[in-house]
Amino acid sequence: MPITQAEASRLARRTGMKQDDFAVVNDGVLTLLNNAQTRACVFLLTDSSDLYAEGMCSVYEIRPKGCQTYPYVLDQDDRAVLDEGCPHRSQFPPPPEGTDMVLLNLEERIVREGSAD
Ligand code: SF4
Repeated sequence: MPITQAEASRLARRTGMKQDDFAVVNDGVLTLLNNAQTRACVFLLTDSSDLYAEGMCSVYEIRPKGCQTYPYVLDQDDRAVLDEGCPHRSQFPPPPEGTDMVLLNLEERIVREGSAD
Protein backbone atom coordinates (compact mmCIF):
# COMPACT_ATOMS: atom_id res chain seq x y z
CA MET A 1 0.00 0.00 0.00
CA PRO A 2 1.56 3.36 -1.02
CA ILE A 3 1.59 5.94 1.77
CA THR A 4 2.61 9.57 2.17
CA GLN A 5 5.55 10.70 4.29
CA ALA A 6 3.11 12.39 6.68
CA GLU A 7 1.25 9.10 7.11
CA ALA A 8 4.54 7.26 7.74
CA SER A 9 5.54 9.83 10.34
CA ARG A 10 2.18 9.48 12.07
CA LEU A 11 2.41 5.67 12.06
CA ALA A 12 5.94 5.83 13.49
CA ARG A 13 4.91 8.33 16.18
CA ARG A 14 1.81 6.41 17.24
CA THR A 15 3.24 2.87 17.10
CA GLY A 16 6.75 3.63 18.34
CA MET A 17 8.14 1.69 15.38
CA LYS A 18 10.95 2.88 13.16
CA GLN A 19 9.78 3.77 9.67
CA ASP A 20 12.18 1.20 8.17
CA ASP A 21 10.35 -1.53 10.10
CA PHE A 22 7.02 -0.91 8.37
CA ALA A 23 7.73 0.88 5.09
CA VAL A 24 10.14 0.76 2.19
CA VAL A 25 10.69 2.90 -0.90
CA ASN A 26 9.70 0.98 -4.04
CA ASP A 27 10.39 2.73 -7.36
CA GLY A 28 10.42 6.05 -5.52
CA VAL A 29 7.12 5.34 -3.75
CA LEU A 30 6.94 4.88 0.03
CA THR A 31 5.05 1.60 0.55
CA LEU A 32 3.90 -0.42 3.56
CA LEU A 33 5.89 -3.62 4.09
CA ASN A 34 4.40 -7.10 4.25
CA ASN A 35 5.20 -9.51 7.06
CA ALA A 36 7.56 -12.23 5.76
CA GLN A 37 5.50 -15.03 7.36
CA THR A 38 1.91 -13.96 6.78
CA ARG A 39 2.65 -12.07 3.52
CA ALA A 40 0.09 -9.52 4.72
CA CYS A 41 0.69 -5.92 5.76
CA VAL A 42 2.88 -5.69 8.87
CA PHE A 43 -0.01 -3.97 10.67
CA LEU A 44 -2.52 -6.75 10.01
CA LEU A 45 -3.07 -8.89 13.09
CA THR A 46 -3.22 -12.42 11.68
CA ASP A 47 -1.25 -15.66 11.97
CA SER A 48 -2.25 -16.99 8.58
CA SER A 49 -0.80 -16.46 5.11
CA ASP A 50 -4.15 -17.48 3.58
CA LEU A 51 -5.47 -14.73 1.31
CA TYR A 52 -8.94 -15.13 2.88
CA ALA A 53 -7.71 -15.31 6.48
CA GLU A 54 -9.40 -13.14 9.08
CA GLY A 55 -7.32 -10.29 10.43
CA MET A 56 -7.60 -6.93 12.11
CA CYS A 57 -5.73 -3.74 11.30
CA SER A 58 -3.72 -2.77 14.38
CA VAL A 59 -3.57 0.88 13.26
CA TYR A 60 -7.16 1.16 12.03
CA GLU A 61 -7.82 4.60 13.57
CA ILE A 62 -4.76 6.08 11.84
CA ARG A 63 -4.64 3.89 8.73
CA PRO A 64 -3.38 5.62 5.59
CA LYS A 65 -5.79 7.21 3.11
CA GLY A 66 -5.13 4.46 0.56
CA CYS A 67 -6.33 1.90 3.12
CA GLN A 68 -9.45 4.00 3.81
CA THR A 69 -10.38 4.12 0.14
CA TYR A 70 -9.48 0.49 -0.69
CA PRO A 71 -10.73 -1.59 -2.55
CA TYR A 72 -11.28 1.37 -4.86
CA VAL A 73 -8.28 1.97 -7.09
CA LEU A 74 -7.63 3.86 -10.33
CA ASP A 75 -7.71 2.05 -13.66
CA GLN A 76 -5.51 2.97 -16.63
CA ASP A 77 -7.93 5.74 -17.59
CA ASP A 78 -7.82 7.22 -14.07
CA ARG A 79 -11.33 6.04 -13.26
CA ALA A 80 -12.08 4.60 -9.82
CA VAL A 81 -12.84 0.87 -9.97
CA LEU A 82 -12.98 -2.06 -7.57
CA ASP A 83 -9.55 -3.73 -7.34
CA GLU A 84 -9.60 -7.01 -9.27
CA GLY A 85 -7.15 -8.41 -6.72
CA CYS A 86 -9.44 -7.89 -3.72
CA PRO A 87 -11.11 -11.18 -2.71
CA HIS A 88 -13.97 -9.27 -1.03
CA ARG A 89 -14.76 -6.87 -3.88
CA SER A 90 -18.22 -8.35 -4.46
CA GLN A 91 -19.27 -7.02 -1.03
CA PHE A 92 -18.66 -3.41 -2.07
CA PRO A 93 -20.87 -1.09 -4.10
CA PRO A 94 -19.50 0.62 -7.22
CA PRO A 95 -17.16 3.52 -6.37
CA PRO A 96 -19.11 6.47 -4.91
CA GLU A 97 -19.10 9.68 -6.91
CA GLY A 98 -15.90 11.66 -6.42
CA THR A 99 -13.75 8.64 -5.53
CA ASP A 100 -11.64 9.07 -8.65
CA MET A 101 -10.73 12.64 -7.61
CA VAL A 102 -9.83 11.49 -4.08
CA LEU A 103 -7.57 8.77 -5.51
CA LEU A 104 -6.04 11.09 -8.10
CA ASN A 105 -5.19 13.66 -5.42
CA LEU A 106 -3.64 10.96 -3.23
CA GLU A 107 -1.63 9.54 -6.13
CA GLU A 108 -0.43 13.00 -7.08
CA ARG A 109 0.78 13.66 -3.51
CA ILE A 110 2.58 10.31 -3.28
CA VAL A 111 4.26 10.68 -6.70
CA ARG A 112 5.26 14.30 -5.94
CA GLU A 113 6.89 13.21 -2.68
CA GLY A 114 8.69 10.36 -4.48
CA SER A 115 10.13 12.63 -7.14
CA ALA A 116 11.27 15.16 -4.51
CA ASP A 117 13.75 12.66 -3.02
S1 SF4 B 1 -5.76 -1.22 6.58
FE1 SF4 B 1 -4.18 -1.59 8.16
S2 SF4 B 1 -3.57 -3.71 7.87
FE2 SF4 B 1 -4.62 -3.07 5.99
S3 SF4 B 1 -2.98 -2.34 4.60
FE3 SF4 B 1 -3.77 -0.56 5.75
S4 SF4 B 1 -2.43 -0.37 7.54
FE4 SF4 B 1 -2.13 -2.43 6.69
